Amino acid sequence: MIHQLVYFSRNTVPGDDRVMLTNLREILSVAQRNNVRDGITGFLIFDKTWFVQILEGERIKVTETYTRIARDTRHSGASIMNARDVTDRSFPDWSMGGAMRSVEVQEIYLQHGIGSSMDPSKLNSTKVLQLALDLQAFDTAKRHGQRRAG
Ligand code: FAD
Repeated sequence: MIHQLVYFSRNTVPGDDRVMLTNLREILSVAQRNNVRDGITGFLIFDKTWFVQILEGERIKVTETYTRIARDTRHSGASIMNARDVTDRSFPDWSMGGAMRSVEVQEIYLQHGIGSSMDPSKLNSTKVLQLALDLQAFDTAKRHGQRRAG
């Protein structure tokens, strides 16, 4: 059994767009290193105001990781939307994928009925999973395109 936890929190990472992105890359790189070690996979969706993250793996590892993340001062008010056992991972190949809301992926948010500002307290975990899978698919297609172009 795989444990899958979805939470949202308020982004308190400082800086303008560029500085924030640099800080987020740093968070993702530490997350990826730890998650490979702990057998955790998942996806982090973020904009200037919010984080929504999916963590999946062994229950004890997911709980440990979430406890560590929830104490991080780079966000606040971490709140679990859903935690459940599932048969399969949704993000088997991603130690932690991440997508910042940008003009490029605007259409994907709109397709999911999310307007100009996301309000995670109004989202449910099923919607979050679908959005994350679509953002992941977009990212994968883009990378393949770049490889072909290069
Ligand atoms: P450390 O060696 O303690 O820290 C690694 C680096 O992170 C440090 O060099 C430092 O620059 C930076 N850092 C750590 N804490 C802070 C802080 N409070 N403020 C500023 N810089 C800091 N961790 C995971 O393992 N998996 C995840 O999936 C994951 N997702 C995250 C999602 C979000 C939205 C946030 C905010 C954090 C996430 N983290 C995740 C990071 C987590 O909160 C811990 O910082 C990290 O797990 C600590 O790992 P460590 O002890 O190996 O790193």
